[in-house]
Amino acid sequence: MEFDWTYTLGLLLNKNFWMATWTVIELSILVWLIGILLGFVLAFAKQSSFKPLAWMSGTYIWFFRSLPLLVLLVFVYNLPQIFPASSVVLASPFLAGLIAMTLSEAAYIAEIHRGGLTSITKGQIEAGKALGMKSLGIQRFIVIPQAFRVALPSLANEYVSIVKLTSLVSVISLTEILLVGQRLYTQNFLVLETMLAVAFYYVLIVTVFGWLIQWFEHKIDVTNRKPGLLNELDPLNKLPNISNASISVRKIIVPERQGEFALEAINIHKAYGDHEVLKGIDLKVRWGEVISIIGPSGSGKTTFIRTLNGLESLNRGTINLLGQPFLKDDVLTEDSPEYKNQIVRVGMVFQSFNLFPHKTILENVMLAPNYHKMGSTLENKVTALAMLDKVGMKQHAYKYPHQLSGGQQQRVAIARALAMKPSIILFDEPTSALDPELVNEVLKVIEELAQEGLTMIIVTHEMSFAFKVSDRVMFMENGHVVAEDTPEVLLNSSNERLKQFMHKV
Ligand code: ADP
Ligand code: MG
Repeated sequence: MEFDWTYTLGLLLNKNFWMATWTVIELSILVWLIGILLGFVLAFAKQSSFKPLAWMSGTYIWFFRSLPLLVLLVFVYNLPQIFPASSVVLASPFLAGLIAMTLSEAAYIAEIHRGGLTSITKGQIEAGKALGMKSLGIQRFIVIPQAFRVALPSLANEYVSIVKLTSLVSVISLTEILLVGQRLYTQNFLVLETMLAVAFYYVLIVTVFGWLIQWFEHKIDVTNRKPGLLNELDPLNKLPNISNASISVRKIIVPERQGEFALEAINIHKAYGDHEVLKGIDLKVRWGEVISIIGPSGSGKTTFIRTLNGLESLNRGTINLLGQPFLKDDVLTEDSPEYKNQIVRVGMVFQSFNLFPHKTILENVMLAPNYHKMGSTLENKVTALAMLDKVGMKQHAYKYPHQLSGGQQQRVAIARALAMKPSIILFDEPTSALDPELVNEVLKVIEELAQEGLTMIIVTHEMSFAFKVSDRVMFMENGHVVAEDTPEVLLNSSNERLKQFMHKV
């Protein structure tokens, strides 16, 4: 028996096949999209700290991943035998297939999302917190957009699986591609010829949609973007005030000076399990003061500075900000009114920059002011550009973080903190992650801010810098403050530990 090519080619124009193809496209896209949404809900639920919710989600994923789709399809389609009312929906093979496939796919896609969500570093979430954003905002603007990009290749792969799985829905008599083929070859017995045409339609769908998803993936991948510098004619340069944006930040940042101290930390205690890391630290910072914190590695400098803006909870102690209560003892939730009102007054610059990689430099700086509705979008943009200009990064407004050097990224991170018009900025070893030749450009920016009278607390290993710019230097060791005084006094101090430490570095 010869292979009947003319018959096969004729099937490529068969109306029933094309209608079935459309059915498969509709079904697969709906399953994919609803599965992506449901999968997100499941993935979040599984990560939830509320145990019953995490358990329920875990059970769902376990159950629907174990169940063969074929069994589920037949079960859902025949459910009206037990619940006649459900026949309104389930009598339609398309809807029954959609429901069964979505139930099953959501379980797989949840695990894909979880992979994406867990790939986002803690630093990203902390950067959002330090900008006063709440959990939902952090998820929406920082975590989910990045996690989705990470998950997209796997999601595209899942779409291909879904297209192929739709062939199973023929068992509940949905007229999809396979069923059209089966009906034909049971009449004419041209099995191979018909199945070749069936294969053609599946391959066609997978190829076309594979391309579309790849194109989309390429489009949202910021590493493909061409780095662009801001030119003279750019509309950003025409915004009001931009030309003289390099004016002192003091003129832009005018915090309400309430109380004698910008920040008071009183008797701060912190332990990780049995390990007591902070053993009663006190620090009072006057308005406009620059305090450097120095000390050997592991002495608790990072932990201390992170308690000051609530990134680390306190076991005991009080922090007042602008003369108002901010944090007390272990009471720390993002819902406490004191914290909520005040967190935006504290800026933070991290050792590892923690810029948002999916956003341009300008978007990085504008994100929090827009989130907090500090001004109109235009006002926030003007401020953001002024701050970028301040740190010498305005030209790079349209670039993405990965297109900048470490020193440039850190300068952007400083601009991002400044754009929130903070009363006080915390720096945690801002230059430790930088190549030696990039350290100075960042220190220069910090020094300028110090000269303009910004209130700052700086953890650093750059001794000459610390002693040059600071009003006071605090030497920490082993969770205690060993010495705290003006640079002049400390340089001539007879404290043995301090002398040893300074000698070493
Ligand atoms: P420094 O910044 O002065 O080098 P850190 O504040 O980072 O010191 O760390 C102080 C001590 O706390 C170290 O002994 C460190 O091991 C411990 N520590 C820091 N963070 C944690 C954590 N999340 N869990 C447990 N121990 C921690
Ligand atoms: Mg540290």
